[in-house]
Amino acid sequence: MEYITRKEEFLTPQKINVLNSILDIKEPPVARCRLLSTGIEPYHRLYLPDGLGIDGDRACIGCGNCVDSCPVLRREPDRRARTVQRTSFALEAIVAEDCEQCYACVMACPQVDTGIKDYIVEDRVVEVIPQSKKARALDNYFMMLVAVILGIIIGVFVTW
Ligand code: SF4
Ligand code: SF4
Repeated sequence: MEYITRKEEFLTPQKINVLNSILDIKEPPVARCRLLSTGIEPYHRLYLPDGLGIDGDRACIGCGNCVDSCPVLRREPDRRARTVQRTSFALEAIVAEDCEQCYACVMACPQVDTGIKDYIVEDRVVEVIPQSKKARALDNYFMMLVAVILGIIIGVFVTW
């Protein structure tokens, strides 16, 4: 039997529009992304009293992952020390408009859907690793050599 989790559900164009608006704001995006998510899955492993259903709960669980992953707070321990709270609210209060829109907090939050994280990685995070000119030249040289060898092999077969 095929089992599809709610977090693998398709991100609709409307949801992507809302997500883009959230990600364009220069403020910590994790809480808004959390609220756009589907919340706690029915297969969570918490042993709760009967009737205390928490499926779909999108609240911050206070794990502090977003606070720990924020580069602004890692660079400025004094700012981090302004509160002992480890919630998205604390992140918003101490980072505010100094957010660098790296989205590390969203990626670290267990309450944000995988689909949202995939979208951020694939469509919003631009890779800016500089390429080495030497490596690129070697690449071209190697491809030229491969092309010559292939040409010779094909030539031999054609004239056979
Ligand atoms: S982790 Fe990145 S996106 Fe999140 S609040 Fe810090 S700087 Fe902003
Ligand atoms: S990472 Fe943890 S503390 Fe931050 S918003 Fe998500 S659940 Fe809350």
